Parts: sequence; C-alpha cells; structure tokens
Amino acid sequence: MALARLHLPLSLGQILAFLFRLVLPGLGPDGMIARFEKGFAARFGRKNAIAFCRARTGFYHLLQCLDLAKGSEIIISGLHVADFVNMILLAGFKPVVVDMETDGFGIDMADLEAKTTPRSAALLVTPLSGHCLNMRDLADFAAKRGLVLIEDCSQAFSASLDGKPVGSFGRAALYSLSLLKSISTIRGGMVTTDDAALAAKLRARAQMAGAYSRPSLAMEAVKQAIIAIATWRPIFSLLVLPLLRLTSSLGDLFGRFQKSNKTVILRSSMPPSLLEAFSWQQAVLGLQQLASFDSREAKRVRLAIRLRAQIRPDARISLPCLVEGSRNSWWLFPLLVENAAALRSFLAKQGIDSAPMLLSAISSEPAFAEMGFTAPMAERLRARTVFVPLHDAMDEEDVDRQAAALAAFLAQPLATRTA
Ligand SMILES: *Cc1c(COP(=O)(O)O)cnc(C)c1O
Repeated sequence: MALARLHLPLSLGQILAFLFRLVLPGLGPDGMIARFEKGFAARFGRKNAIAFCRARTGFYHLLQCLDLAKGSEIIISGLHVADFVNMILLAGFKPVVVDMETDGFGIDMADLEAKTTPRSAALLVTPLSGHCLNMRDLADFAAKRGLVLIEDCSQAFSASLDGKPVGSFGRAALYSLSLLKSISTIRGGMVTTDDAALAAKLRARAQMAGAYSRPSLAMEAVKQAIIAIATWRPIFSLLVLPLLRLTSSLGDLFGRFQKSNKTVILRSSMPPSLLEAFSWQQAVLGLQQLASFDSREAKRVRLAIRLRAQIRPDARISLPCLVEGSRNSWWLFPLLVENAAALRSFLAKQGIDSAPMLLSAISSEPAFAEMGFTAPMAERLRARTVFVPLHDAMDEEDVDRQAAALAAFLAQPLATRTA
C-alpha cells in the first residue's frame, strides 16, 4: 500500500470528540488551560508556559513584553512562516532577514555578523525539521552582541545539543501547536520562559485575549478530519495518491489544501482572529498529546535514523548536515535534491508520496519586496527540499522500502534522472 506524506498527531476520534466538545454549551471544566500549561512547562523543563491562539500571536506579545527600544531590529532567518515578519512589524519593530547555510538548515554566521547593527535587539532562531542549530555559536553571538535570544521550537520539540534541550538556550521559546506539530491542539501556540517577570506580562496579555471563535475552530477541525481520512492508508492508496498523480500538472493540490496561510500579505493591523483566546477544548487535546508525546517522538526518531543510515548521498541528493553533538528530533525527513520534481514523480510511481517545503522563503515574497530582504541561499534551500514520508503510522518495512526506492532513483542513468 502507498505511503502518505503525513500522518496527523491527532486521531480522527480525537478530532471528532473535539468537535463535540466545541458545541457543548457553557464554560467547560475549570483550570483546564492552566493544567495544560503546567504539564507543558514540566515536560520541557521550563518554569512557565503560556498558551496563545497561535505561535505567531505568542511571538507578537513576547516582542512587546521584552522592553526593547523603539525602532529595534529583530533578526529572523530566511525560511519561515511569512506572517512572522508581520508580527515583528506590528509589534513596532524592524525585521531583518539573515541567510542560511548551503548544506543544511543552519544560519549563515557571516551574513548574521554582517546584518547585526547597534539597533539589533533580538535574534529568533528556528531549528527546521528537528535539525538542531549550532546553539553554541548562536548563543555566544547573541550574548556578545546583547541580543535577546528567542527559539522557535515548532519543528523541534525534543531536539537537543550536548544533552541540553532546544528551547532552553534563550530567554523564551515558541512552540506552534497547529496541524502537524508534535503536540497538536488543532491550532495554538505556547511560549515558555524561566523569567518570572516576563511570564507575568505574557499571562496578562493572554488574559486580555478576545473570545475564541467556535465556528473557526470547528472549520479547522473539519479540515483536519478530512486530512485524517484522506491519509488513511487504504483511501490514500486507492484514491488520493492516484488523484494527486493525475493532477500533478496543476501543482501540489494536497499541499495547497493543507496550508493555512495561502497568500502572504503585508498586514497593517493585527487581525482579531490572531487575538483570540486559547480554549479549554484545545487544552483537553493538549493534555492527551502530552501523554503520548514521548512514545510518538521516540518512534519517529528511530525510523529516521534507520532511513538516514540507508541513504547514500551523491551530487543529486544530499542530506542536510547535522550539528556535532546534536540529537535531531526529525519532525519531517528532508532531502536536498537538485531536481525535486523528478524525484517526487519517480517516488509517486512507486506509491511513495512526498512534500515540498511549505515555509516561505521570506526574501522572495512579493508582499515584502519593499523591505529589500536578501537571502538567496534560503531561496535555493526551499526549492531543493523534498520531504519523504516519516511518521508514526509507518514501520521499519516502510522505511526500508523507501530507502530502496531512493537507491533505485540514484541508480538511474544521469540523463533520465535529470530529464
Ligand atoms: C508551524 C510553524 C509555525 C506556526 O505558527 P502558528 O502561528 O502557530 O501557525 C511557526 N513556526 C514554525 C517554524 C512552524 O513550523
């Protein structure tokens, strides 16, 4: 049977139960959100965790709670959720985009050095697909230049460097709790910090949030239920993958359905939908996800290590490099591929679905053209990234079959491979 590109962390049953709880009248059980926040902080070894309706909302509030000077520059790396640029602008600061390395998801230290100015105030670092960054150098750099270090751990919940967990290096860390994230609450975001004063300010912000929108949460849950059904193996094999292959000339329809920020705009104000409260119904899911988190993460990491060990990179396909001493949490399994379209169609013929990079290359977003961002390597990295399936609905046999398909791709004569 075919292998789908993804498997949701929430089961169909959990999504349907969430929908049922959404339509219940009343306020729900007391203290559910606080319980989730406490459990989250405890699991990730931080003193405080504060839930918001999205990670980007947490980032917006965090920037405003750091007492940064007016007109400060906030540094972000070239591959990100584009709306993070809007959050920096709307929080009252200036976004600065740094480029990435050529052979992995690291930050280009020379570009970082060159773009840091006396007005630079904070550095947001984002380990992608579980790939730990070189936090030794980055934390050092931030300390020397007096930058507040913030980690976006949305794709690296359980990565670590020399045994020190990602999310513990900076003043605060962000975790998205959306669709595919290791802890998914339909949507949502968490900010963690050991700084009690900062946590109190963030909590005050969270308490000012507007009412959550049941229709909007319900719509997102229905979309996720559809994805859960579409990626159920028999349906995916018999219906979804054949349809995706037939329609491949129209682009990646699955990715388009999955993606929540379909168009990138330059925002002039914070939309009410980003200022909603996190709901108790989402907290219920969060507590369930915390309970199964360790075993889900462990299985994925085990499969990823098995897959990586079987891949023989060459000039056409390479593996993003790993930082020495890091433990990668393998949110997804990225390959860096010169001809991504050729590999994806080759794999699809063998019943193996794959996905492109859904994050934006910020420097190539037309909406941000006026700001003159430059990050050419990040743009190239985005074009070269192909995610092959890696999730906890797979087993060792699936991984070996995938490795064999990749080997068959590389065994083709060069001419057909690049056609
Ligand atoms: C998924 C993701 C987000 C999403 O943030 P939300 O505001 O919760 O939608 C942010 N950052 C990274 C790196 C992500 O992968």
